[in-house]
Amino acid sequence: MHFEILKKDSKTRARLGRCRTAHGVFHTPAFIPVGTQATVKTMTPEELREMGAEIILSNTYHLYLRPGHERIRRLGGLHRFMHWEHPLLTDSGGFQVFSLQALAKVSEEGVEFHSHLDGSRHLLTPEKAMAIQQALGADIIMCLDECTPYPASHEEAESSLRRTLRWSQRCREVHGSGPQALFGIVQGGMYSDLRQKAAAQLTEIGFDGYALGGLSVGEGKEIMVRLIGETAPLLPENQPRYVMGVGTPGDMLEAVREGVDMFDCVLPTRNARNGMLFTRSGRMTIKNARYAEDPSPIEPGCPCYTCRNYGRAYIRHLYFAEEILSFRLNTIHNLHFYLAFMQEMRTAIAEDRLDGFRQDFNSRWNSSVEPGENPNLTSLPTGKRISLSTRI
Ligand SMILES: [Zn+2]
Repeated sequence: MHFEILKKDSKTRARLGRCRTAHGVFHTPAFIPVGTQATVKTMTPEELREMGAEIILSNTYHLYLRPGHERIRRLGGLHRFMHWEHPLLTDSGGFQVFSLQALAKVSEEGVEFHSHLDGSRHLLTPEKAMAIQQALGADIIMCLDECTPYPASHEEAESSLRRTLRWSQRCREVHGSGPQALFGIVQGGMYSDLRQKAAAQLTEIGFDGYALGGLSVGEGKEIMVRLIGETAPLLPENQPRYVMGVGTPGDMLEAVREGVDMFDCVLPTRNARNGMLFTRSGRMTIKNARYAEDPSPIEPGCPCYTCRNYGRAYIRHLYFAEEILSFRLNTIHNLHFYLAFMQEMRTAIAEDRLDGFRQDFNSRWNSSVEPGENPNLTSLPTGKRISLSTRI
C-alpha cells in the first residue's frame, strides 16, 4: 500500500491524500461504508461506486461465523465473493466479540466467545484474527485489540492497553511482510497519557497505518475530539490515520481538522433503515407528521437518485408500510450525503479553506434541527423497525 499526502490545510492539521492498494486507489479523507455481511445493506457494488464509494469495510466476526473464511478463500477471496473489485478493509472481529458478547472471556491467549448463531464456542487469538483476514484477502486488515469498556478506571484501561500492545506485536509478527496492509489500533480509554503511550509503542512496532479505537462510546464529543487532537499528531506523518466507528458529519469534520484520514460508521446506513435522514440543515425524521403531504425531496437540490425522483410524503409512506424500497431509498440518500460531504471536505482542503467550510457547515447544521429533537441524538430509539431491518 502506498499513501501519499497531496496537500495540507494551512490553518488546521487536515491532509488531502491518496492511498494506492492492490485493488486501486481511494482518496482521503475517506468515508468507508460498512458492509457487515459482505454487503452494504440494500446497495449493489455498482450503485456504491456510482455514488462515490472508493473503499468499503466488512466484518470479520460475521464472515468467520458465516459462511466461513475458508469457504470465502476457496471461492476466490472476499473481493470476488462480494463482487467488489476495489479497495476493501476488514476489521479484526474483536469489536463484535466484545460488543455482542456479554460472556466473552479474555485471557492472554485471546478472547473466547460463543457464536450468536448457534452457540458454538470459539477462541479468537491475534494469530487467528490474522489468519481469518488473510483468507478473506482485504487490502487493509486490522490488529486484534481489546476493546476497553467505558467507563474504565486508569488502572483497568492501562492493563487492557498493555494486552492490546502485546496482541499488536503478535499480529505484526505473524503477518510478516504480506501484501495486505496491517493497521495497529490505539486504545487507552479516555486517558491522554495512555493514548500517547499507545501511539508511541505502536509506532515503534511499525504498521502500515494507525487507527484510533474505543472512541464514540459515550464519552461525548468534546473528550473525543480532544483525544484525537492529542493522539493523531504523535502518529507517523506519512501514514494513514483511521478513526474507527466515527461518526456524525460534525465529528468527522473535527477529526479531519486534527489530521485524520479515514472513517467508517454505520450511522448513514443504519439510520436510513430507521427513517432518519441526513440533510445540510440537520437530521430529518421522516415519520414526522409534518411530511405526510409534503411532495418535496428529502433535500431540495440533492442530486441523489432518491431526491431526484421521490418526495417526502412517499418516502414517509414507504417507511410506515415497512416496504423494502424504504430502506433502499433512504440508504441511497444518506450514503450519498456522507460521500458528498467527504468530497466537499477534500475540495475545501485542496483549496485551503477547511475552516470556512466548517463555519458554513456548523451554521447550517445547527439551524434547523426539527423541534423537539435532541441534536445530540445519533440514532433513533430502537424498536420493532431495527429487528425488521437487521433481517434483510
Ligand atoms: Zn438525496
